[in-house]
Amino acid sequence: MKTNPQSKHMDLSTYPLQYLKGIGPKRSAVLEEIGLKSIEDLLHYYPRGYLDRSQVVRIVDLAFYAQRRTPVTVIAEVFRVEARRARKTNKMIFFLTVKDDSGYLTCVWFEGYQWYKDAFDIGEVLALSAVPTFDVQGRPQFIHPQFDRLKRVDEDEPDWGKLFNTGGIIPKYRSSAALERVGLDSRGFRRILRTAVSLYVNAVPENLSNTLISNLSLLPRSEALRAIHFPNNKDELEQARVCLKFEELFFLQLLFALRRATTQREVRLFQYKTESLFPRTLVNSLPFSLTNAQKRVLREIVTDLRSPHPMNRLLQGDVGSGKTIVALLTALMAIDSGLQVAFMAPTEILAEQHYRTISTYLQNIPVTVRMLIGGHKKNERETFLEELRNGSANLVVGTHALVEEGVTFQKLGLVIIDEQHRFGVIHRATLRAKGTTPDVLVMTATPIPRTLAMTLYGDLDVSVIDEMPANRKPIRTALRTERDKPKVYAFLRDEVRRGRQAYIVFPLIEESEKVDLKAAKKEYERLQNEVFSDLRLGLLHGKLKTQEKDEVMQKFKNREYDILVATTVIEVGIDVPNATVMMIENAERFGLAQLHQLRGRVGRGADQSYCILIADYEWYDKHRKGKDALEVWDEKEKARKRLETMVSTTDGFKIAEVDLKLRGPGDIFGTRQSGMPELKIANIVEDVQLLDIARKEAFKLMDDDPHLRSDENAPIRTHFEKNYKEYIELGKIG
Ligand code: ADP
Ligand code: MG
Repeated sequence: MKTNPQSKHMDLSTYPLQYLKGIGPKRSAVLEEIGLKSIEDLLHYYPRGYLDRSQVVRIVDLAFYAQRRTPVTVIAEVFRVEARRARKTNKMIFFLTVKDDSGYLTCVWFEGYQWYKDAFDIGEVLALSAVPTFDVQGRPQFIHPQFDRLKRVDEDEPDWGKLFNTGGIIPKYRSSAALERVGLDSRGFRRILRTAVSLYVNAVPENLSNTLISNLSLLPRSEALRAIHFPNNKDELEQARVCLKFEELFFLQLLFALRRATTQREVRLFQYKTESLFPRTLVNSLPFSLTNAQKRVLREIVTDLRSPHPMNRLLQGDVGSGKTIVALLTALMAIDSGLQVAFMAPTEILAEQHYRTISTYLQNIPVTVRMLIGGHKKNERETFLEELRNGSANLVVGTHALVEEGVTFQKLGLVIIDEQHRFGVIHRATLRAKGTTPDVLVMTATPIPRTLAMTLYGDLDVSVIDEMPANRKPIRTALRTERDKPKVYAFLRDEVRRGRQAYIVFPLIEESEKVDLKAAKKEYERLQNEVFSDLRLGLLHGKLKTQEKDEVMQKFKNREYDILVATTVIEVGIDVPNATVMMIENAERFGLAQLHQLRGRVGRGADQSYCILIADYEWYDKHRKGKDALEVWDEKEKARKRLETMVSTTDGFKIAEVDLKLRGPGDIFGTRQSGMPELKIANIVEDVQLLDIARKEAFKLMDDDPHLRSDENAPIRTHFEKNYKEYIELGKIG
């Protein structure tokens, strides 16, 4: 590809897209909506995937893949379009027949006829992807295929068909209905990117130092950008990906290195007593002894508290591993030394639960505990705030009500944050700022693989409770289908007969909450009247008032119900050791982390517990909502994988790892709010090795040249200050 030598000294980040040939005001307005304003933005709009010869099959071979239910791509020319009205639903069904040199293939769309009817021209060339199925006559067909236009009938686009045969690679770009309306489908993007790359890629500045580039054999940045869009071959593409990924990860780690350097310059203000009385009293009064993992973590914390710098520690441990007691013992060390402690939980339910647990534990220790959540009466709130201000309250448990203005402490020495990933850096920083360099302990019940912890909390030290209290029996998990339900009901009945209790859980997802709730209520009635008419069933869901919820829960605890039919409200905070069976309906719709949390509600006593997952994968076909064949297939495959994982392990860390692979880290940790810049191309789960290198290089750089003052590092500083400004600010307050 020819590039323009004159573009060398332009600032592409301020060059409006509107002036690029082929864009204009209409397209630029739509592009701006997805955040593309400048030429630079466009150059960083990476392909969502690539098409190359190796993925393409001939139509004549489709039957083979239909039997194996694997997704494939064909490249074919549009031959015929037609529509028929479905007799049952009276809806128009759209048929598209395409041909390649080996045969004809029919594609079917049951939805979207209005759009599809004018979407294709006879003779245009498409790449179509789907899992092939057989029609009634036994011929392969594509239902709702994903498609990418390769060549319109009378067009000057390069002849992809030909390019293809010589091993070329075609980039595919993400589009949307709004973008398509102004001609920016995948093909439209290819055209404007072709222009942008050929005219301006040379003006892209280098972001890394020459030393890094040559030591790690990276491509020049402009070269990498050209190749990510229009690679000449697979090697080149791979090299480009490595470069761009490394760069992202490097700057991310540089951010952590900076935060770390900042906290390490801080000096502890308050000293801890070496011999603490309160923690000892509590340990002696516990009905159990601490696990070795708990003891080890406590030693790590004590070492931190004795160091001249404030603690910044992340405490990880699976559900039920006993983090609360560790946090509480740490709190007591602080209180013993005359300091106040703030304990923040993500929801009111959790805050209340902690408050109750902590108050019970501390019955015989002279410590004043308060709770601060949203719904206090004004007087009560004023009293609490005064107690915090004058130091008479030692420990306050609360929600993010704690970070509000007006909450001030006399001597805040320790901040404990539960379920860190729901808060993010901003909350952490604000709460911290209420003390003078307080110690910080953040806890997460969502087990995070070590690699990810390092990335997400790269500025924290990590402790792991990797051992469960000894009295637990692993829960047995089984995967069943709708057809097996009578047997499952019989099993539940057996357990109830033996004096146990059970949960039946229904999915409740926000988008269709009303419909779901209705379904759950109806099922509850059916179960009570038709299946378990001789047993006592309770119903618990989120729309009940707090008092009603408490009542239902209390009755279940008192064994006035045998079976509790519930929505996911029981995910957290419920502890009924006599409940030993959990049946989860439509388990395919639940996330993996959620299933793990739910299953954690059983297995809390000495009896063997069971979790039975009822899966209905066809649900995804029935609720496709405009998704194409590949998306539906992908959803089903992921659901299968989630449930298989649940059956094969109860290890929260393994589950979290699979969850991350399936969902991607961005989905689990809202990146912006966790104080982490968004990653566009790197994946912290898949690119672990690269992450490791990036981390080493970034921390080394921060050691060698903490203010990035050398000429050599000027490109790094420029890019860092310009693009990571808001995160650097966060680092300063954090
Ligand atoms: P999580 O880590 O999920 O916050 P918790 O701190 O709520 O777990 O502990 C779960 C349960 O285990 C609590 O009832 C707690 O009292 C109990 N527990 C904690 N540590 C131990 C231990 N070492 N031995 C036995 N039970 C323990
Ligand atoms: Mg907990």
